[in-house]
Amino acid sequence: MGSFRVERPHFLCPATVTVTSYGFVVSGVGPKLCNDQRGRIAVAEPDFKLQVGAVQRRLIEALDSVVSSGGYREFLEFAAKLPNYSARNTLLIFSQARERGFTPSIVMGYRAWLTRGRHVKRGERGLRICVPVTSKSSGSLGQVEPVLRYFKSATVFDISQTEGEAIPEPLLPCFLEGEADQFLFDFCVAEVEKLGFSVHFGELEGCNGQTNFTDRSVVVARGLPPLQKVKTVLHELAHATMHNRADIEVPTAELEAESSAYLILGTLGIQSEDFSVPYLIRWSKGETKDVEDASLRVSDFVVNFLRRYYDGVFNRVGAEFNPEGKVA
Ligand SMILES: [Zn+2]
Repeated sequence: MGSFRVERPHFLCPATVTVTSYGFVVSGVGPKLCNDQRGRIAVAEPDFKLQVGAVQRRLIEALDSVVSSGGYREFLEFAAKLPNYSARNTLLIFSQARERGFTPSIVMGYRAWLTRGRHVKRGERGLRICVPVTSKSSGSLGQVEPVLRYFKSATVFDISQTEGEAIPEPLLPCFLEGEADQFLFDFCVAEVEKLGFSVHFGELEGCNGQTNFTDRSVVVARGLPPLQKVKTVLHELAHATMHNRADIEVPTAELEAESSAYLILGTLGIQSEDFSVPYLIRWSKGETKDVEDASLRVSDFVVNFLRRYYDGVFNRVGAEFNPEGKVA
């Protein structure tokens, strides 16, 4: 009889195994495991619905506190005044910047930068874009409508090419640093594969993961920190499970996928606020209610995942005990 600690996947880790006269008990952050008098393993499953609900409330509180902060409002006001570039111009900006070895973040014309208290540094070469030139003409019902005449070339500059007054900090998702449990990672990958998707690690532009329904593949960006990689696989697992429908809008899918990853990790005792909160704020445009609704819609998916994971953990733990009920 006695107690010792065992290393287990995150929500059991560190767990304490106590060997008693009737067998052994594993107690830890998560569920309890004991064997009954006949030597069978008896498991009391935790109430995942309750636990997920608590994590959901924590998420909404975290979002609320950021959205109501002065810094966020200042950034929103700033962002509202930024020019909106077309998909084609965004591509032009990115490809030219990349050729010159930088990633653009905030891009405006020379004069627009001056109105924000910054000026383009001497010798900087601008990025070329195409802007439509329109003129006003009277519509058939007498109203004035803009009519496209032609496109002209214009020059814009990235913030890194300018200097001057500081601008409000954009709220950017930060990679989750730190180690991840290998069993959890393997389990998540296996869950994606069970849906008939192949999982690859490769080069991705501007995102950490991608779910393709046409060739049923999930690509995860190579070189992510281990914990970020687990979160990304969970995010893509949620897409692969719930979003193969034409009627789903991108922001809705992103809110559901990221809140799924957040809720699963949160219930396992792993914090992903640094990445998930800015990501959810960006896709919800700061509408906490939209995130709350999304996180409620994914509850069943999250709870079912946790149940399967829990079974997976216990199959593994069970396999490590010998039939006499002694710890191997
Ligand atoms: Zn996504």
